[in-house]
Amino acid sequence: MIDLKQYEVWFVTGSQHLYGPETLEQVAKDSRAIASALDASTTIPVKVIFKPVLTTPEAIHELCLEANSAKNCVGLITWMHTFSPAKMWIAGLSLLRKPFLHLHTQFGREIPWSEIDMDFMNLNQSAHGDREFGFIGSRLRLNRKVVVGHWQDEEVQSEIGVWTRAACAWADWQGARIARFGDNMRDVAVTEGDKVEAQRRFGYDVYGYGVGDLVKAVGQVSDAEINQLVQTYLDEYEVPSALMSGGEKYAAVCEGARIEIGMRNFLSAGNFKAFTTTFEDLYGLKQLPGLAVQRLMRDGYGFGAEGDWKTSALVRAMKVMSAGLPGGVSFMEDYTYHFDGGSGDKVLGAHMLEICESIAAGKPKLDVLPLSIGGKADPVRLIFDANTGPAICASVMDMGQRFRMVASVVDVVPTEAPLPKLPVARALWLPRPSLKVAAAAWIYAGGAHHTGFSYAVTADHLRDFADMAGIEFLLIDENTSLDDFRKELRWNDLYYHLANGVIH
Ligand code: MN
Repeated sequence: MIDLKQYEVWFVTGSQHLYGPETLEQVAKDSRAIASALDASTTIPVKVIFKPVLTTPEAIHELCLEANSAKNCVGLITWMHTFSPAKMWIAGLSLLRKPFLHLHTQFGREIPWSEIDMDFMNLNQSAHGDREFGFIGSRLRLNRKVVVGHWQDEEVQSEIGVWTRAACAWADWQGARIARFGDNMRDVAVTEGDKVEAQRRFGYDVYGYGVGDLVKAVGQVSDAEINQLVQTYLDEYEVPSALMSGGEKYAAVCEGARIEIGMRNFLSAGNFKAFTTTFEDLYGLKQLPGLAVQRLMRDGYGFGAEGDWKTSALVRAMKVMSAGLPGGVSFMEDYTYHFDGGSGDKVLGAHMLEICESIAAGKPKLDVLPLSIGGKADPVRLIFDANTGPAICASVMDMGQRFRMVASVVDVVPTEAPLPKLPVARALWLPRPSLKVAAAAWIYAGGAHHTGFSYAVTADHLRDFADMAGIEFLLIDENTSLDDFRKELRWNDLYYHLANGVIH
């Protein structure tokens, strides 16, 4: 469902006329070589397209306009091989609506000590040319990523790759449609927010539907389609005999399949990328969608429970950022604690049902069990332990005048004993630097109980993404000091208040 190869970044080199045609030809040749090396890099998931060297304000302006309207262009990589007087860039950069990365590199890795002359110095000027370009970016107060190093270095290419993934997720959000079945869970605060401001800031649109619209789609599913999907369940999961044909829970499995097909048809017909459900709004649906949500998430849909459209959008963005990388992405909730004294304090993450199977350690088990909330029939769901290893939890909140993203780096560990009576998928983790610091920081930041959770997405992806959105990014990791974090919150409140102005 998510193919990053459809996207491209444009490699844009700045220069000026003073150098004469011979030097400019060499600049173009070197730039083409860099662009094609980046295009071939396995850590950069999109096409890198070489663009002709820019030497006039008119050409720069034209290129930026073209980038804005190019559907598959997710951003620009800019580089000044020579000096490119930056007043030439003001008009273009001021109207550029796509993210850009400033690659501060040099064509040749080393100084040719015995050969270097003034011709060499005239050609290889990025050390000062990129500073001139950097100034105008800062002077125009533009968010952008600066990557420094030789273009052939693995680390440099990897940083470009991370930024590119964030840019793809940002492009994916623009014009994205999110379906909301039912409204917000009654009385819940953090899942609410200003959808008009979200659309202005983030580009996605949230469409509300009565559950009856979904019930209608679910009612149109044929028995033949259900039988076929139930067979897929038998092929993909560990299925107890009670859930098989003739078993006492078989009818519930068929109902789960009916809900999955109906939801899938609804989402695909409406060209939706993400959705929400609410266990309080299920009128006419026999079960809370559990398995259906788990499988739709696996296929790339964003999801948020209890009407949580912000987390649904974030999960979708994280799915796009991590496309093709090992390690999955899921909707998640901090559920229960294990306090065993300081450094071993852990979080058990889970939800009522809706954890994505892309994070499963082994083959998930299918089961039908009571929900004990919501008063509906027993829903079918997948049960599994999540993979172990480093992961990240992230959340976006509406703070009133603006949005804030907070992320927490954690280490997922095996459970200390089997959990035979816990009927939901789960992950057990140690937050960095400790639960004591991380949970306090998260709570001071107003972080939600719902998160997007991933082993593939890193703080670097999320920071780049937040920068593209122009929102605050707070990171809780091994370097977090609670004292500094609380100061950062206060300073950021002031910064964003001033930066946004009184009328915005
Ligand atoms: Mn929840």
